[in-house]
Amino acid sequence: MRKEGRLTRWIGWTVVVAAVLLLGFITGWCAKPTHPNTPDDTASGKYLREFLDEMRPEQIREHLRKFTRLPHLAGTEQNLNYAEQIMKEWKEFGLDSVEMVPYDVLLSYPNKSQPNYISIVDQLGSEVFNTSLAEPVPEGYEDVSNIVPPYSAFSPKGQPEGDLVYVNYGRTEDFFQLERDMGVNATGKIVIVRYGKIFRGNKVKNAMLAGAKGIIMFSDPADYWAAGVKPYPAGWNLPGGGAQRGNVLNLNGAGDPLTPGYPAKEYTYRLGLEDGVGLPKIPVHPIGFHDAINLLKNMGGQIPPNNWKGALNISYRIGPGFTDDFKSQKVRMNIQSNNQITRIYNVIGRIRGALEPDRYVILGGHRDAWVFGGIDPMSGAAVVHETVRSAGRLISKGWRPRRTLIFASWDAEEFGLQGSTEWAEDNAKLLQERAVAYINADSAIEGMYTLRVDCTPSLHTLVYDLTKQLDSPEEGEEGVSLYDSWHKRDNWTDNRDAPRISKLGSGSDFEAYFIRLGIAAGRARYTKNKKTERYSSYPVYHSVYETFEIVEKFYDPSFKRLRAVAQVRAGLIFQLADSQLLPLDVNQYAVALEKYAQSISQLAHRHPEDMNMYKVSFDSLFSAVENFTVAARDFHERLLALNKADPLQLRAVNDQLMYLERAFIDPLGLPGRPFYRHVIFAPSSHNKYAGESFPGIYDALFDIEHSADKQKSWEEVKRQISIAAFTVHAAAMTLTPPA
Ligand code: GLU
Ligand code: ASP
Ligand code: CA
Ligand code: ZN
Ligand code: ZN
Repeated sequence: MRKEGRLTRWIGWTVVVAAVLLLGFITGWCAKPTHPNTPDDTASGKYLREFLDEMRPEQIREHLRKFTRLPHLAGTEQNLNYAEQIMKEWKEFGLDSVEMVPYDVLLSYPNKSQPNYISIVDQLGSEVFNTSLAEPVPEGYEDVSNIVPPYSAFSPKGQPEGDLVYVNYGRTEDFFQLERDMGVNATGKIVIVRYGKIFRGNKVKNAMLAGAKGIIMFSDPADYWAAGVKPYPAGWNLPGGGAQRGNVLNLNGAGDPLTPGYPAKEYTYRLGLEDGVGLPKIPVHPIGFHDAINLLKNMGGQIPPNNWKGALNISYRIGPGFTDDFKSQKVRMNIQSNNQITRIYNVIGRIRGALEPDRYVILGGHRDAWVFGGIDPMSGAAVVHETVRSAGRLISKGWRPRRTLIFASWDAEEFGLQGSTEWAEDNAKLLQERAVAYINADSAIEGMYTLRVDCTPSLHTLVYDLTKQLDSPEEGEEGVSLYDSWHKRDNWTDNRDAPRISKLGSGSDFEAYFIRLGIAAGRARYTKNKKTERYSSYPVYHSVYETFEIVEKFYDPSFKRLRAVAQVRAGLIFQLADSQLLPLDVNQYAVALEKYAQSISQLAHRHPEDMNMYKVSFDSLFSAVENFTVAARDFHERLLALNKADPLQLRAVNDQLMYLERAFIDPLGLPGRPFYRHVIFAPSSHNKYAGESFPGIYDALFDIEHSADKQKSWEEVKRQISIAAFTVHAAAMTLTPPA
């Protein structure tokens, strides 16, 4: 850490500015500062620096070591053991309270006595090839029990048998291409797709809609193998025997499939197992590329376009079925997994706010892992642990944040974000009245290149201000700020000279907070170079090879990248909890809305004749965005003149800032997705991981050229434009002076 940190110098400036303002006030003129959203007093600034400096790479290393020794799948005894250990240590670190909060939710496990596998069977029905029952266990972990074999959580039981059809990544556009261009029908077939590009649950949904009776997902080296890197343990690539576990639900934000809308307590009414939300209706199973070669190599049918070919030494024919020489062979899936109502445990810790205890800032991340969780999620959980330790140190020095801080260790994220969603349902009334922001803390690293931030537009300015005050963790960048290091590696776009910040999608625990409840949210982690590294997530994602050692040997030997991520996450919650004036920038929301409105309108204008014929106009939306822009600008102006010494005035504008995100919630939700209620952002209907802006309009426009009833489809587009326009306008109104 530099001796004279940026922050110290900057605090010096704050003092100078304050003196100028005071002078201005006394002499009757006032030079307005342009930026109201900065820490307000030197005491808070001093504590922020101490909070960040207290976090140590060596400590993060120890936390990660401690919580990755044993497998800790949701619903197992070991995951409860870790929960108890976290609860105990958070208390020792000095939190005001720590509680364990259980729910009884639907999970899914393989049957221990009847393993899941896939066979090639000959005409006599004998199995001539079987996929492996487990991944080869990495050295040093040979004696570990309770390693769950690769499986697709929530697959129904079944033994479908038939011909394979290869459908690339299983995306909507891949199935369109299969059916419309190649003329192949997947009805009654077993679909095989490669992992990558989109959330696996969307692949399964697409296969079901195409009429498939089973789906196999494999990890292709084209997507899970970085160039010039050895497979684990010599390097960080996925070995051929490794496979990606993961749930295959389509929950659309529901949480526990059996208790949509309400917390899964003992007394809670439960749907029947047949009626659970988002459960797939066809068997699903994941395999590695050693097994995939055997299923794919004898396939017949058309040769696909080049962008359907992976990196295996086979032709990637699409089928259906095998070539003439192997025509009599079929593929049979044998899936025996069980869905089971199981107790899960969130750990919730609190630091009571000194001045506004009824305002909450939340830092939450999951604890449950598929196996050891070396990267996912414990690199994130170790960062939260270190944040709590550092916060405890400040408490012991007499600090107390202005607002209440809540720390959460979520359970059963891997089974569909269940722990975080059930707690959000349990506390919805409190959260919608009191929550200021939610910062997510899943995996803190997925690459070795630079920072990645996804957040709501009103947090952009805070993220930039904060990263300017932090150090780059990169070797040879001593004295360079994290902001500059990040900016150099990932500039936003040609017309915006700043580091890239992306929209929030889903696939992690912020979902219920942001998209259901409308709480400002963000996430930050270290990532790969997306321009040169084409593989999806990271090669060993959700495999047994996600160990402590893969982080220590390859991803972050000095643990400085994890510390940098810790400082970003911790710096965000500190400023949100301790600044007098909430560090949320309404002007950035206006900028984003303008951009999203332009882009959705352009999408619609790909159909100029239809728009003319059905009288479709975006005028109302642009006018609402204009209202919002003016209201945001005026609101910001008033902030600069605000008398912060008046607690009622301060509280009033802070409430406007806090409730702005809430104003984008439509209580009726998006069409067919009642728990996705944010009108500006939703997970893409085609990829849960990706964020879509103006999702209601986007979905209404999607594939409209193939609509069976054009009139009706365009009427729905018009209805969605009016909902968006009304919502943006209503949000703008919340920023106008109250009287
Ligand atoms: N993060 C988990 C995954 O990507 C769960 C995501 C989800 O269910 O939304 O597999
Ligand atoms: N790693 C995933 C993500 O951060 C979430 C998960 O699989 O737990 O999006
Ligand atoms: Ca529920
Ligand atoms: Zn995961
Ligand atoms: Zn995770």
